Amino acid sequence: MKIAISACLLGEKVRFDKGHKRDEFVMDELSKYAEFISFCPEHFAFGSPRPSIKMVKDNENLKIISNKTGEDLTDTLLQSSQNDLEKVKTNNVVGIIFKSKSPTCGLISSKVYLENGFAEGKDDGMFASLCKKEFPLLPMEEEGRLQDSWLRENFIMQVFAYDSFERFKQSAKIKDLVLYHQHSKFMLQSKDETLYRELGRIVGNHEPKEFSDILSEYEYVFKTAISKKSSIGKTRNVLEHIAGFLKTFLDSDEKKILHEQIDDYANKIIPVIVPLSTLKLYATKYNVSYLLEQTFLNPYPKELALRSDIKSVK
Ligand code: SF4
Repeated sequence: MKIAISACLLGEKVRFDKGHKRDEFVMDELSKYAEFISFCPEHFAFGSPRPSIKMVKDNENLKIISNKTGEDLTDTLLQSSQNDLEKVKTNNVVGIIFKSKSPTCGLISSKVYLENGFAEGKDDGMFASLCKKEFPLLPMEEEGRLQDSWLRENFIMQVFAYDSFERFKQSAKIKDLVLYHQHSKFMLQSKDETLYRELGRIVGNHEPKEFSDILSEYEYVFKTAISKKSSIGKTRNVLEHIAGFLKTFLDSDEKKILHEQIDDYANKIIPVIVPLSTLKLYATKYNVSYLLEQTFLNPYPKELALRSDIKSVK
């Protein structure tokens, strides 16, 4: 899968001072599973090194101004941003990771200044803003926010689910969609129960509709659902629900330990991987294929170890 990413996070020396901001998680972990498509609208427009720039509010418009000369560089940066936008578009990426706080790449973290030099809140950088308009359903995060284990886990699950749907839709038929929805059940419920039910209604389609229309409708709601953040409450419900499928196989001690683990997870005493591993063990032992096929049990490569972190839930 391809992920678009601010070039400086890849260690490319494209910053205004010819430096970089190599990101450890991106380079040492995520790089094993994704091909990166780099972008740097500032380097493309002005080269490196270059004078730094800032975002300035002019009435309701935001413009890009050189910190050194005061020159208005909005049009030049807009042009190079369009160029990188095209690159992102043609590469069919399944996510974007931006460098935080940059007037070009920041995602709601770019400082906005008034003409008089005072700071006035934060907004999206110019390129990030174009990406949000162009790809409203594409997973997007900043490297700064990805330091938070909960946001990281949610983003990675979203990216892998988005990628899985993109591959699925290439050759999907209606019966495949029924199965796809079935396998996604617990993952979707851990995100948004209402949207999960809405997706069930779309798959169950009782109106005379073309499959391509059903698939587009499903895609929109599916991608919206996976953009939602999980919570301890929602995940706990899913774990209890999975446990419900196993209750006829387990004796009272096994049930007691399993429910203790789910409680300990909900009380943030142990990470979610503990009850999940127990559920997976019983599902395997008793060959409950309905559970073993659930994306929720293996939403991304286990080596990322995101569910082993107690802080990956909120
Ligand atoms: S933050 Fe964006 S514009 Fe700035 S150096 Fe990194 S990639 Fe280039």
